[in-house]
Amino acid sequence: MSAIVPLKTLTASQLADFAAAQGWPRYRARQILAWIYRRGATRFDQMTDLGRDDRAVLERTAVIGEPMLADVRRDPEDGTEKFLFRLDDGALVEAVLIPDADRLTLCLSTQVGCTLDCGFCLTGTMGLQRNLKAHEIVDQVLGARAHAGPERPITNLVFMGMGEPLANLAQVCEAIERLTAEWGLGYSPRRITVSTAGLVPQIAALGAFRHKVNLAVSLNATTDEVRNRVMGTINRKYPLDALLAACRAYPLPPRRRITFEYVALAGVNDRPEDARRLVSLLHGLRCKVNVIPFNPWPDAPYQRPSDEAIAEFQAILARAHISTFIRKSKGRSILAACGQLRSESDRPAGLIPAPQASRGG
Ligand code: SAH
Repeated sequence: MSAIVPLKTLTASQLADFAAAQGWPRYRARQILAWIYRRGATRFDQMTDLGRDDRAVLERTAVIGEPMLADVRRDPEDGTEKFLFRLDDGALVEAVLIPDADRLTLCLSTQVGCTLDCGFCLTGTMGLQRNLKAHEIVDQVLGARAHAGPERPITNLVFMGMGEPLANLAQVCEAIERLTAEWGLGYSPRRITVSTAGLVPQIAALGAFRHKVNLAVSLNATTDEVRNRVMGTINRKYPLDALLAACRAYPLPPRRRITFEYVALAGVNDRPEDARRLVSLLHGLRCKVNVIPFNPWPDAPYQRPSDEAIAEFQAILARAHISTFIRKSKGRSILAACGQLRSESDRPAGLIPAPQASRGG
């Protein structure tokens, strides 16, 4: 007997091959895809528009697999929820659901750990365990969606969790196929943002991808000297010049902008001269800037700037007509803030017990 096929590990065309091998009509694969992704089915008996015989074949030969939600923690102050998923090999990854006035944004992880070791980032301290597979990325959305329920649709997806998405580009693109497909989750690529520390060749590759998702770039410094200090692994390979050239060459669809993220580190990159240099670096780029005041973690080598320093930084950019937003840190009490997506053994107060991922259907 041949091995059981985990259907979520298949691409749409591999699933079509699987269906064809059973002698099924072409539309059968689409039906199965829609059940799995659009409707979140986790069992074949939920697939009510498939014949009994076909379902029996699926029961014998395949499994769907469902996201294993190991834990959910909710920040009582701002409603941010952090999901901890356990993967088949036991590895743990996190996703964070961030409510805002008119959005519900899910922040997704793409790697277990990261190779880049940016000095301000907690994930960087753990090294890379492995890349996530496309279905492990999509399962974060399916698990969070099931947990949030139909009354709270997730409106935006950002690849800003653990890991460097462009270091795992093939799986990220395959995940985006499923997230945007009509049989899948049906997201507009405008609602999806991929954030990178600056992998220059992969920025061009993402630009060539058929789904025109938004690009965010974690700039975080305005000179190579400072950038080498705070994110040396990536900047020594692709210095600022090369990074900004890749951004200028990025094929932006009309009316869209690149987001530059700028983690503000006290006394390191938050001075008025940094803001002025940032203005000249970004000259002529269709962009906006998100200033993220550093979120401290235990024994971190950096500090959060004062509110005054942040306000002055923003004012300098605003005077140069660069739209600049200050990112309030959310989910602080659950260590869900940017770069803090890592399981902690000691749990802060205010946690709720983990509910099971609700069954879809
Ligand atoms: N590797 C990708 C995506 C993950 S990091 C990237 O670098 O863009 C997502 C964002 O969180 C980046 O902008 C990063 O600079 C920021 N970040 C990481 N650690 C942080 C911290 N402790 N405080 C504030 N922002 C942080």
